[in-house]
Amino acid sequence: MTKTSPVELVVVPCLRDNYAFLVHNDATGQTALVDAPEAAPIQAALDARGWVLDDILITHHHDDHIDAVAALRGSARVIGARADAHRLPDLDLAVTEGQQITVCGQSVDVLDVSGHTVGHIAFHMPSAGLAFTADSLMALGCGRLFEGTPAMMWESMQKLRALPGDTQICSGHEYTAANARFAASLDPDNPDLISRIQGIDAARAVGKPTVPSTLTEEKRTNPFLRADVPEFKAALGMSNASAVDVFTYVRAQKDKF
Ligand code: ZN
Ligand code: FE
Repeated sequence: MTKTSPVELVVVPCLRDNYAFLVHNDATGQTALVDAPEAAPIQAALDARGWVLDDILITHHHDDHIDAVAALRGSARVIGARADAHRLPDLDLAVTEGQQITVCGQSVDVLDVSGHTVGHIAFHMPSAGLAFTADSLMALGCGRLFEGTPAMMWESMQKLRALPGDTQICSGHEYTAANARFAASLDPDNPDLISRIQGIDAARAVGKPTVPSTLTEEKRTNPFLRADVPEFKAALGMSNASAVDVFTYVRAQKDKF
């Protein structure tokens, strides 16, 4: 039996391969948006349900996550990283790691998950088992390192890996099929990965999102979460290497895959 979530989650495909997320609490009538890649599909998803935004949560400053904030904000509270306030839309609430905020009547923890950018944050809503990771931890992948170091991203991966296993990882892009091909090239004998890829191919064949995924499945199959796992290190022939060195190698391989 699955526990009932206090909120409803709606995944909104935007642009070519982005995802925005709506969170709605029926009991309080509140609605939040995580990231704003494109106004029209998000507004359509809101209108179809008669929802109005109370909060907009921003994960990082890239255009494909903030472009539609201006069009959608209305009287919503816009929340983002204090460290990135200079390059985000005007914030009503500037947050830092460890801060706890209330969104849709639920408590939300802010995590610094720098690496893709320095200042990228994730939002974890424990009561609903939701983590909004955008371009940090992704389904079978992680974001490219535009600003941070591999060591920084590995630190971020470990923070997210420590969340409960049944946490739904709401990441920012539909890159899973390409990520799966890369993961399989490194870890071809991983049975969890083999069966996950079958599910991914089946979902994509009918145009279904592969996001969110659960943290448990990521821990078993995502190469970027496995830099310190002995079987994975052995598969790479890197049994004696440090986790940071393994992570650095895997990220570099992905960049040229
Ligand atoms: Zn990005
Ligand atoms: Fe992005």
